[in-house]
Amino acid sequence: DPPLLRVEGLEVEFSTSAGVLRALDGVSFEVRAGETLAILGESGSGKSVTAQAVMALLPQPAGSIVGGRIWYGGRDIAAEPVKQVRKLCATEIAMIFQDPLSSLNPVFRVGDQVAEPFRRRRGMDKRQALGKALELLKRVGIPNAETRIRDYPHQFSGGQRQRIMIAMAIALKPRLLIADEPTTALDVTVQAQIMDLLADLQAETGMGLILISHDLGVVADVAQRAAIMYAGRVVETGSIREIYDHPAHPYPKGLLESIPSEGARGQRLTPISGSPPNLLAVPSGCPFHPRCEFAIDVCRTDVPMLRRPEGWEAGHEAACHRSEEVL
Ligand code: SF4
Ligand code: MG
Repeated sequence: DPPLLRVEGLEVEFSTSAGVLRALDGVSFEVRAGETLAILGESGSGKSVTAQAVMALLPQPAGSIVGGRIWYGGRDIAAEPVKQVRKLCATEIAMIFQDPLSSLNPVFRVGDQVAEPFRRRRGMDKRQALGKALELLKRVGIPNAETRIRDYPHQFSGGQRQRIMIAMAIALKPRLLIADEPTTALDVTVQAQIMDLLADLQAETGMGLILISHDLGVVADVAQRAAIMYAGRVVETGSIREIYDHPAHPYPKGLLESIPSEGARGQRLTPISGSPPNLLAVPSGCPFHPRCEFAIDVCRTDVPMLRRPEGWEAGHEAACHRSEEVL
């Protein structure tokens, strides 16, 4: 089977008052139906920009795709007009965000909001659509859904609001769901429940799932593969197990070493000394070199490309000159 989504060498730029900023610099990955890919990295590494580019949601007119391809259903949607891609996304590619309150409309009852896609896209009448909304709210685990369907967003907890967003996202049975930090605003117990819900829904529907997170612990049990981003590039990709057991790039290695061995959940990805680069002035050569304890001369001049280090598992690639020597 061809992958559901294949991103190849994606390049995105933003025009800012301080100059042109390269937010994505040759990002490649793929997701298959029924598979979960985690896209991991610190804030500003390009995770959300990647999702925005796929969904044709880059801020306009500042953000634009300047290179690469986004293959979906045999089409390169990076080359299609924004309007056409958004139409495709409305039925086939859904997205949920960190803060459900900003995505829910405070003045409409939750039931009406969940029912909306059935009325607008499936032509159902109000009663039918509310019936569907009720089914979905039950499925995502809203207690007393029959009565709560008439409540407003502020009457629900943060975790319940995220469940409601998930209900809306899966309403039209998308083939791909992109979840951008879906549990970051929630406490640890609720995070795990939401992750379990997403995993269950995926198993039921066979959809592809992209989980964007800064938290390696949260995704470890649900994702099969990961792409780890740094300064707008994928620096390591492969199966989650393989990356966690044998990281082939110093950045993920450092992140993983900073996770406590018990109860990895909730750990923030900021333990490596130094800070992520300013994208207006990305370091020469390997963008990680100012923070890398293994850096040598070649790291300051030559950009490392993604490749499989000798002896590593198939599909496991890293962008580091020294994977074999030091890792
Ligand atoms: Fe460190 Fe060099 Fe590898 Fe970059 S290429 S991660 S600087 S060793
Ligand atoms: Mg983000």
